[in-house]
Amino acid sequence: MNAKEGRRWRNFLRNGKLQIIPLGGLGEIGKNCLAVRCGNDIVVIDCGLMFPEEELLGIDVVIPDVSYLVENRQMVRGIILTHGHEDHIGALPYVLPQLNVPVYGTRLTLGLLEGKLEEQLPGFKADLRVVRPRDVVECGCFKVEFIRVSHSIPDAVAVALHTPLGVVLHTGDFKVDHTPVDGELIDFHRLAQLGEKGVLVLLSDSTNAEHPGYTMSERVVGETFEEVFRRSRGRVIIATFATNIHRVQQAILVAQRYGRKVAVAGRSMVNVVSIAHKLGYLNLPQGVMVELEEANRLPRHQVAILTTGSQGEPMSALTRMATGEFKQLEIIPGDTIIISAVPIPGNEKLVARVVDQLFKRGAMVLYEAVSAVHVSGHPCQEELKLMINLTRPRYFIPVHGEYRMLIRHAELARELGLRPENIFVAENGQIIEITPKGGRFAGRVAAGRVLVDGLGVGDVGNIVLRDRKQLAQDGILIVVVALSQETGQVVAGPDVISRGFVYVREAEALMEEVKAQVRAILDRCIERKSLEWATIKSEVRETLSRFLYERTRRRPMILPIIMGV
Ligand SMILES: [Zn+2]
Ligand SMILES: [Zn+2]
Repeated sequence: MNAKEGRRWRNFLRNGKLQIIPLGGLGEIGKNCLAVRCGNDIVVIDCGLMFPEEELLGIDVVIPDVSYLVENRQMVRGIILTHGHEDHIGALPYVLPQLNVPVYGTRLTLGLLEGKLEEQLPGFKADLRVVRPRDVVECGCFKVEFIRVSHSIPDAVAVALHTPLGVVLHTGDFKVDHTPVDGELIDFHRLAQLGEKGVLVLLSDSTNAEHPGYTMSERVVGETFEEVFRRSRGRVIIATFATNIHRVQQAILVAQRYGRKVAVAGRSMVNVVSIAHKLGYLNLPQGVMVELEEANRLPRHQVAILTTGSQGEPMSALTRMATGEFKQLEIIPGDTIIISAVPIPGNEKLVARVVDQLFKRGAMVLYEAVSAVHVSGHPCQEELKLMINLTRPRYFIPVHGEYRMLIRHAELARELGLRPENIFVAENGQIIEITPKGGRFAGRVAAGRVLVDGLGVGDVGNIVLRDRKQLAQDGILIVVVALSQETGQVVAGPDVISRGFVYVREAEALMEEVKAQVRAILDRCIERKSLEWATIKSEVRETLSRFLYERTRRRPMILPIIMGV
């Protein structure tokens, strides 16, 4: 440490405080994003997206509100990525144009991010800096250290921020896998070392905090694959997350052992397999991979297919196979289909429908409820306890989870002897402030969700959503009428157009009544000489709304259009 640096640290220590500000991923699964501020330096850990719940009609993705970071742009020293899942990197194509700071991550993480940026922001120059586990980089007053963990994607890391006040350790997503497919163990030694020296704050993954016991090793899935391949006489089709490269790897090796060729279906599977292979994370033995067309020509017992769609996503390859819309591959009796994933909450019905449709086509379907075709990438209670006991933090903040999961995780920490006043169950936007005297909640920054629809980022708000809901529930009725600008007399119309409300041709009587109502309103207005268009419109809306509800018990959106002639 040179003199200038020493002065800065002493200065910091005198009025030193550390702020931890979750901007996403608390009270929800997804759009993980967390800011840590120390003096005038901010680092950001992860910046992910979330897929919309059903009531967010037409929304493509949801990203965190990062206005706090954009307003304090000059203090942001870097964005640090723990791994390459969408809920950790997916918001960057939207955020980086407003905040083009250095992005640190391991090779696979940045490889996946690069692919996304090329696709969504062609020509954009991002400052991507590759790190390896145990590397340390400097970001303002933070020394940022990367620590290997196991997860359902290779090359995942936890992050230790060495600050003047102490070490802030963020686990990222992790699990404890004693027999990882790639042989790369979670770095117990370094975690224990940090614990020995003293960890100030631990932020840990709460996704599975409700589940007792341990998460099983990824190898268990490989054993199930082995058994399925041994028994199957027809084709074997495996649907999983494309980024679960260890699982993809196991499927390919087992297929090869049983004399099968492997073809890949689905855009994201093709993309990820090619990136992971190029970067050396996926071993594709010579001659094992074939194109789909070739696979269709081979005898069935020599074919395995890897595909996307394990969540029943409507546009995915597996869903289209199930409905017979996937032209390159038709499901036939004798096929065995493994859905190697667990439905993300909210997707259960979609997945169940796909399973039903596949059965109807005569296929055998293995899915999580009936077979060991999936293990989680997140830690169960015993692993969470291990993490807390290894690192022995002074303060504890459960992250990555819905509220009840955070609460369960906090309880576990209490059971292990952490002091209740040092455990913070926070909401997105809440500032947790740590000083040498103690920790406390210290206000809020703007946080929440930004909705992305097509090319629009944030332009769809509550009003647009409310309209979409009304349109989706009861449809729309449009009334068009042309009025003379001088006398206010009706020149043409009223005409009535309806979509999603009633089928006009089968509701002619009702439509005639609607027109009569409109004519009556216009006559009344002319009589009263109140020819303000706004008044006429609101009267049309109110009267028709009441009338239609009485007749149909529906509340369509009513849109009066008046044209002056
Ligand atoms: Zn993850
Ligand atoms: Zn995650």
